[in-house]
Amino acid sequence: MSEEHKPLLVARKLVKHFPITGGVFGREVAKVHAVNGVSLELHKGECVGLVGESGCGKSTLGKTLVRLLDPTSGTILFDGKDISTLGYKQLRPLKRRMQMIFQDPYGSLNPRMTIENILREALLFHKVVDKGGVSARIDELLDLAGLSKAVRRKYPHEFSGGQRQRVGIARALTVNPELILADEPVSALDVSVQAQILNLLQGLRAELGLSYLFVSHDLKVVQHFCERVFIMYLGFIVEELPCDDLETDVRHPYSKALLSAIPVDDPRDRRDTEVLEGDVPSPIQLPKGCPFHTRCPQAEEICKKENPELVVIGKAHRVACHVVARELGAQN
Ligand code: SF4
Repeated sequence: MSEEHKPLLVARKLVKHFPITGGVFGREVAKVHAVNGVSLELHKGECVGLVGESGCGKSTLGKTLVRLLDPTSGTILFDGKDISTLGYKQLRPLKRRMQMIFQDPYGSLNPRMTIENILREALLFHKVVDKGGVSARIDELLDLAGLSKAVRRKYPHEFSGGQRQRVGIARALTVNPELILADEPVSALDVSVQAQILNLLQGLRAELGLSYLFVSHDLKVVQHFCERVFIMYLGFIVEELPCDDLETDVRHPYSKALLSAIPVDDPRDRRDTEVLEGDVPSPIQLPKGCPFHTRCPQAEEICKKENPELVVIGKAHRVACHVVARELGAQN
């Protein structure tokens, strides 16, 4: 297997629940079922998207995969090593290889420090370069993030949203990561600035051989930025497919509804809009059967009783739906 096609990150039956405590003794009274048995792979140099509505568990899944959160159960392999249960000390060298970019890095940038000092602190803390090499490395990082040397003495509040995101990217690059978890990295930015940041991330991927786990509520952004997408609903992956096949081969009723909500670039290309009725059920009390059955226009009796398995239906294409599985079975 070539390096590019070796899985860098693998999740098997990954579960993340958050306990809700109550009463005088603070006992667990319920759980938020944020991630429910997710299995996925991300290959070296690949960019995959995690997409779904707000509260679907995509950010929690991303953070659990890079061990910012502890999994409740399941396995996570990073570069072949089981990192699911490693403690803080054992994780530290591995965490350098996985960095995060946030929606707005402002909250994670010390407002009293200049950009130069923010980057210097990260470089020295992680012992990436010796003291003599820090200044030259700061220039390199600013250059990689498309910022001029003139910003070295500026403070975070002096930057626009797009520039701040570039600072966040520069800081993530201080430790020469291999995998970047980008959690809604452009959703707070204007459309023109979004494109600039996405272009920057694509360029860095080619230049530095990075892999991205790209978390977004915006299927259109993911469609253009990623090779593969995992569509999530209520903490489950309901469909995985190559982004090139989204327009032609999407199968799950929820994925179809998400896709139909994307405005088309050319008004002559009409797309039937599928409006979903009802609200997403509470992740505290998951519905029995298919998690989507309470809103699914195609739901049948079996959907209320049995949660469909995610089954392979094509190259890099998996779907969890009784109806799709039956239709494909009938065709074959
Ligand atoms: Fe809809 Fe049933 Fe398929 Fe779930 S299994 S998506 S409820 S048709």
